[in-house]
Amino acid sequence: MARLVMKFGGTSVGSVERIFHVANLVKRTVDAGNEVAVVVSAMAGETDRLIDLTRSVSGGQSDVNLDYAEYDSIVSSGEQVSSGLLALALQARGVRARSWLGWQIPVRTSSTHGSARILEVEGADISARLAAGEVAIVPGFQGVTDESRVATLGRGGSDTSAVALAVGIAADRCDIYTDVDGVYTTDPRIVDKSRRLEKIAFEEMLEMASLGAKVLQTRSVELAMVHRMPLRVLSSFDQSPDSNTGTLVCDEDEIMESQEVSGVTYSRDEARINLLQVPDRPGVAAQIFGSLAKANINVDMIVQNVSRSATQTNMTFTVRETDIDRALNVLNQEQRAIGFSEITFDKKVAKLSVIGVGMRSHAGTAHTMFEALSAKGINIQVISTSEIKISVLVDEEYTELALRALHTAYGLDTIQE
Ligand code: ADP
Ligand code: ASP
Ligand code: MG
Repeated sequence: MARLVMKFGGTSVGSVERIFHVANLVKRTVDAGNEVAVVVSAMAGETDRLIDLTRSVSGGQSDVNLDYAEYDSIVSSGEQVSSGLLALALQARGVRARSWLGWQIPVRTSSTHGSARILEVEGADISARLAAGEVAIVPGFQGVTDESRVATLGRGGSDTSAVALAVGIAADRCDIYTDVDGVYTTDPRIVDKSRRLEKIAFEEMLEMASLGAKVLQTRSVELAMVHRMPLRVLSSFDQSPDSNTGTLVCDEDEIMESQEVSGVTYSRDEARINLLQVPDRPGVAAQIFGSLAKANINVDMIVQNVSRSATQTNMTFTVRETDIDRALNVLNQEQRAIGFSEITFDKKVAKLSVIGVGMRSHAGTAHTMFEALSAKGINIQVISTSEIKISVLVDEEYTELALRALHTAYGLDTIQE
């Protein structure tokens, strides 16, 4: 017997039939003698629909001026519906179950509406009900702020709700049921030769998630890693998923042999900015990135070159494509104070990354990457590295070609007949 959190994503609860299937999986897990808390996403497409509704009512208001507390109260409602529906489907199968909204538990969050962080999940009440044999159904993606307002956790946030609940109720494991049967070497929707990984280290999964693999929200992996919560990704479409299916996200030392590269990711949500003829003096980088930080704009890759001129240099960096208009605004306002001559930018870029704890002990990982891209005639615009990943920025139109080339170059392809 174990205490488990089972999380089901949007596609897994996307129709009444899917909800019945989920109810059967939950019932089977309960009948096997486990205590079960379930976290659900909104039915597939529902969050997008609610966001569109919000935008159409708020008219021409820019995102900066939107009342994000109201936005959260609207977009969190999708999960309220799916959790209630699943509770009813379970009751119809003779399973005692009830739904718990974020504020009823409570799931306490920061007040950064639209992308709040979970601060604490008070698991005592749910734990007592689980111990008494009741199933708890919790809507993902939502929590409550100190001001008693509903807050949402950013897109894909139900994964984080699931891990935080698992920590809050001291579960033995958190199982993330989705529309693929595990974590793959790369996005299986794009590369049909991608392979399911039986195990992946927390550190690798954290990099993969933050570099574009949206199978798990980054924060959920971070929480699981910090709290050493075993995390499993598996398919809700399997007829009988069990502990031998899916991918286990675990400590590095539980994996016998680490590959040089475990996974390849891509992100199209990137934009490149170049500042030309930036004065080459102490404090200028602090000035540029300070003004962007003040506007809450994250900067990712940064390149500053030694230039021929003793007094000027060029600066290249990337921001999320969704932030570029705000970034250009901030930089234009600061142009005189910083003293650069011109801004150029490109929104049609993509970041490709190769990730693996094994690259710590392998020489030539970067060389393999650059050679594979060059063989396809793909130009590299910016490079950045850390201990277990290498990322490059390329023209967006080459994303899929580059992804496949890298997947092959590191020997990750499945052998297909
Ligand atoms: P859910 O609605 O269950 O949360 P998501 O759509 O958020 O599901 O995440 C699952 C999707 O993530 C898959 O359908 C797949 O296309 C995508 N994905 C991207 N990279 C990977 C990867 N490396 N392994 C598995 N899935 C991936
Ligand atoms: N429903 C939310 C979204 O679509 C949260 C989630 O599914 O994880 O982003
Ligand atoms: Mg998701």
